[in-house]
Amino acid sequence: MTATEVSPTAADAGADGAADGAAEAFRAEFRAWLDRAFTAEVAEAVADRQDPETLPARRAWNAALVDAGYGAISWPVEHGGRGAGILEQLAWYEEMDRARAPGPVNVIGVSNIAPAIMSHGTPAQQERFLAPMLRGDEIWSQGMSEPDAGSDLASLRCAAVHDGDHYVVSGQKTWNSLGDQAAWCQLYVRTDPTVPKHQGITCLLVDLTSPGVEVRPIRTMGGELGFAELFFQDVRVPVDAVLGQVGDGWAVATRTLGNERAGVAGLYLSLRATFDRVVAAATLPTADGRRPIDDPVKRDALAARFTEARLLEFLAKRMLGSMLSGGFPAAEGSIVKTAWAQWSQAMAATAVDVLGLPALSGDWADALCGSRSLTIAGGTTEVNRNIVGERVLGLPREPAPEQS
Ligand SMILES: Cc1cc2nc3c(=O)[nH]c(=O)nc-3n(C[C@H](O)[C@H](O)[C@H](O)COP(=O)(O)OP(=O)(O)OC[C@H]3O[C@@H](n4cnc5c(N)ncnc54)[C@H](O)[C@@H]3O)c2cc1C
Repeated sequence: MTATEVSPTAADAGADGAADGAAEAFRAEFRAWLDRAFTAEVAEAVADRQDPETLPARRAWNAALVDAGYGAISWPVEHGGRGAGILEQLAWYEEMDRARAPGPVNVIGVSNIAPAIMSHGTPAQQERFLAPMLRGDEIWSQGMSEPDAGSDLASLRCAAVHDGDHYVVSGQKTWNSLGDQAAWCQLYVRTDPTVPKHQGITCLLVDLTSPGVEVRPIRTMGGELGFAELFFQDVRVPVDAVLGQVGDGWAVATRTLGNERAGVAGLYLSLRATFDRVVAAATLPTADGRRPIDDPVKRDALAARFTEARLLEFLAKRMLGSMLSGGFPAAEGSIVKTAWAQWSQAMAATAVDVLGLPALSGDWADALCGSRSLTIAGGTTEVNRNIVGERVLGLPREPAPEQS
């Protein structure tokens, strides 16, 4: 039995009957469409999601999703979405997982940057940017981290100086996901160095083809691209590229509510899918004719990973259930993120332990290397533990370094 077979579905997040009925109707409609549209040829063309050469095929699949109305169902109708609620979003994730179909190519744009443009952007910015972002015609990245400003984002130094109808940007960003492919960047800059550090930050929507921008791709230890360092030297950015108010960048970065409330489902679904792949591979005989799955020590490790995948699902569904009852469990998101990161690392290590030498190269080895970043990206485990300690458990605040 696989993890997928024993897993509960959207209904387990808890819902009233009417909403649940609408989600199940959506699921049936979407499943039928996926069965028709996500053909074996499309699946093969998009199979390697890390390979830049598959980008045109992934873009074409992205456009097919959008044209059929399934590109970003959580987005409001006026911006090309369906205004779908949590249960329909959950059904979308579950059906995409069932079909093993890839989501949008513009993953950061669609889930993180678009909501900021919808809540803080001018009508002209919304008109200009949202449609090409949704179709994947323009890839976006987020420029927050700098060499000396990661967890402590408010210390960022990349500066923008007002000069007539432009800002002149100079400085450096790093760990820019998709920066090697991106046409645009949601860039956080310091516009006022004289005020406390959380103030004086502004968010700009920057064309990465502007003169003075240098993009240096970063290759990870898994051998992949997918990141870049960005260097800005006297880059002129028009004032109408400010997102929100000047000096209000901290609020844009931290107080934008995503429409994609069920995105947490993607975490346990991906962990579950990896578990199923490890079990399938462990069921095949190795060179000595034995099957790894028959080794009791390996079975024990797999049982631990299975349990973690289920626990992650319950944690995520508890969070979704709380949202369905009108809650906004922001700090609980740190529990789910921390658990997902640690359990995904354990899954990647177990895959290599269970499958042995052949897994020390190729996809399993790449996944093992790649998994190391999960406890850093999107907020480190230590920082998330502080959030859980302070905001969930009510422990005293961590002393800030400058006060200790
Ligand atoms: C896969 C991946 C994708 C990323 N994508 C992007 C992106 O698209 N855009 C972007 O701007 N950035 C991106 N980042 C950068 C990421 O946001 C930072 O790496 C992260 O915020 C940590 O910052 P840092 O690397 O500077 O480490 P630091 O903040 O310097 O932390 C170093 C160590 O100190 C610990 N630490 C720091 N502060 C505290 C504290 N208060 N209490 C306890 N421990 C603490 C950390 O947990 C860590 O172990 C990405 C990173 C990765 C790995």
